Amino acid sequence: MFSLKNKVAVVTGASRGIGKSIAKIYAKAGAHVSCISRNKDTLNDVVESIVSNGGSASINAFDVSKSIEFQDNINDIVKEYGTIDILVNNAGITIDKLIMRMNDDDWNKVLEINLKGAFNGIKSVTRTMMKARSGRIINISSVVGLTGNPGQANYAASKAGLIGLSKASAKELASRGITVNCIAPGYINTDMTANIKDENKENLHLQIPLGRIGNPDEIATAALFLASDEAGYITGQTITVDGGMVMN
Ligand code: NDP
Repeated sequence: MFSLKNKVAVVTGASRGIGKSIAKIYAKAGAHVSCISRNKDTLNDVVESIVSNGGSASINAFDVSKSIEFQDNINDIVKEYGTIDILVNNAGITIDKLIMRMNDDDWNKVLEINLKGAFNGIKSVTRTMMKARSGRIINISSVVGLTGNPGQANYAASKAGLIGLSKASAKELASRGITVNCIAPGYINTDMTANIKDENKENLHLQIPLGRIGNPDEIATAALFLASDEAGYITGQTITVDGGMVMN
């Protein structure tokens, strides 16, 4: 397994699903993990489970769409743990509706959390990473950001936006030794996909060459590789982890 010994990682959306798996695998690989989401209680369970398995983790509960709160929390983490080596912008929501029914609030909320939240994160850590002349930023996009999906105009736009944001940041930060990459998961078994009806799940399986929905740990292992020293020559890329749904 790749080592993150002595690294400090920040993972947003760490209270459940994909973010929780990433936080756990990073802690297992030796990193201290600052776990972020809006809900302190669910984060508590994640941190307790990491610590009881011999890992190191802490909680910062706030809304990633609030830029000042993001910067303040990052400053606190740097003060306490000395630096930030890895940022995973994973927090995300869906508000699925056809465009005709989608109102301003549905659009703005999804873009503010999924896309601006990641911008807030990148902006908050760059000073520290630039000073260290190293860093890893990983943004969790989606296959829907590559292909589009009816009923998800806001979500697909936010996830495609993340890919553009990652490429621009990768070019801007490369000279300082900071890499920025995206992971585009396919359908993964989490709360976000829990409401898909059984008959639709059957249809989904037919679109996935590997014939099954993925699990959060399969995204976490890709995030571990991208965070490792061994991935130091990869930047500005989007890695699909989707059972073969989208082949480049
Ligand atoms: P979940 O709904 O299971 O978890 C979402 C996480 O984001 C929770 O920890 C939630 O915590 C946190 N979160 C949501 N809004 C905010 C906010 N404003 N500020 C801070 N934290 C927030 O989702 P998944 O684990 O399934 O998804 C994780 C990421 O992967 C998302 O970006 C999603 O778009 C992406 N993805 C998921 C796929 C899937 O099939 N599951 C497929 C492709 C991409 P809380 O509510 O407590 O704040």
